Amino acid sequence: MDRSLELFQIAKNLFPGGVNSPIRAAVKPYPFYVKKASGATLVTVDGVELIDYVLGYGPLILGHMHPKVLEAVEEQLNRGWLYGTPHELEIELAKKIVSHYPSIDMVRFVNSGTEATMTAIRLARGFTKKNKIIKFDGCYHGAHDSVLVKAGSAVSHFGVPGSAGVPEEVSKLTLVVPFNDVEAVEKVAKENQDDLAAIIVEPVMGNAGVIPPKEGFLKELRRIADETGALLIFDEVITGYRLGLGGAQAKFGVVPDLTTLGKIVGGGFPVGVVGGKREIMEYLTPSGPVFNAGTFNAHPVTMAAGLATINELERGYVYEVANSAAEKVAKALEQEAVAKFGGVVHRVASMFQWFPGVEEVNNYADALKANKEISLRLHEELLKRGVFIAPSLFEAWFTSAAHGEDVVNKTLEALSEALKVIS
Ligand code: PMP
Repeated sequence: MDRSLELFQIAKNLFPGGVNSPIRAAVKPYPFYVKKASGATLVTVDGVELIDYVLGYGPLILGHMHPKVLEAVEEQLNRGWLYGTPHELEIELAKKIVSHYPSIDMVRFVNSGTEATMTAIRLARGFTKKNKIIKFDGCYHGAHDSVLVKAGSAVSHFGVPGSAGVPEEVSKLTLVVPFNDVEAVEKVAKENQDDLAAIIVEPVMGNAGVIPPKEGFLKELRRIADETGALLIFDEVITGYRLGLGGAQAKFGVVPDLTTLGKIVGGGFPVGVVGGKREIMEYLTPSGPVFNAGTFNAHPVTMAAGLATINELERGYVYEVANSAAEKVAKALEQEAVAKFGGVVHRVASMFQWFPGVEEVNNYADALKANKEISLRLHEELLKRGVFIAPSLFEAWFTSAAHGEDVVNKTLEALSEALKVIS
């Protein structure tokens, strides 16, 4: 028995399902345990090297253990790692975010994407004095009650419609409509106008595979929000700093009222950000009545790692390397995987996914029709050949600055071999 299996057996007694976040249990045939990581490579406790296309589920756009991030974190550790008071790095990181996101005048740092969307929704409710929200079928906004309604990501992978333990009184305030369907949003928004606090959306869906917005869809959401008095929240936890410095809002030219960021902005350390217009943000405590607090908010180590990451992103090469790697691998999927099993490959910048067996994917219902078994078989066969992709169709492949030509070429070889044995 290898060490990973041995550890997983022990873990099953200690953690529900053996893991601390559900998708980790989906890795085939059982989760591998990582000893160390650098660049594009993970090394398991059994000494197996894996090219990583999961990258911590998105944050590591520089790759593992980037020297600039390591240096910044070490420097911070040498000055102490938790003060319970304000410190300069939080100002520096906030200034960067404000400069890259014109929709953001002020931010609140929290510790996860979950906390960010939870706080943004509470803020929208507090600001508008309304209660309902519109979310999109298959969009994932974290693991809190209001958004665990028809969510994507691991919620889809394990086939749970929402979550037990969420009171109906809470989930009925969350109105779910299909992504890319302007008419449906408009109808539901107008019908609920008197009590609609917010429309929350992943501007590019990244938790039901990768599903881009149709031309004009996000602009229509802006219009509908304006017409109904709801706030438009862009959940850019994945897309923020991945689609470019200004995220999806810059790419698609739409200005939300509130933005949530996470993942990349913490350089691989726990983080979440709520950002937006000053008059809304000032509703947060202590300047306003909407409560948010956190022992670890604006954690010094996270701020240092995030700042070092964004400094690298500003140099431009990261996007060039990561996007070009994604383009090549996505193209190979189109040429080899689609040729054999059909389907469609969606790529936006350095995130992509293949939906086997379906010709068009514009929303979650379309994604559900894709062949999950083939997707999972690809995960399994790639893993045997030294490439780690997420064990679910409802996630994305991510690339980083460490995915240079060698790494891509090795991946393409493994991909061709893997596809040969899948039937
Ligand atoms: N929003 C989006 C769009 C996400 O993809 C995620 C996590 N994958 C979250 C929110 C929740 O973030 P976290 O896991 O940091 O709580």
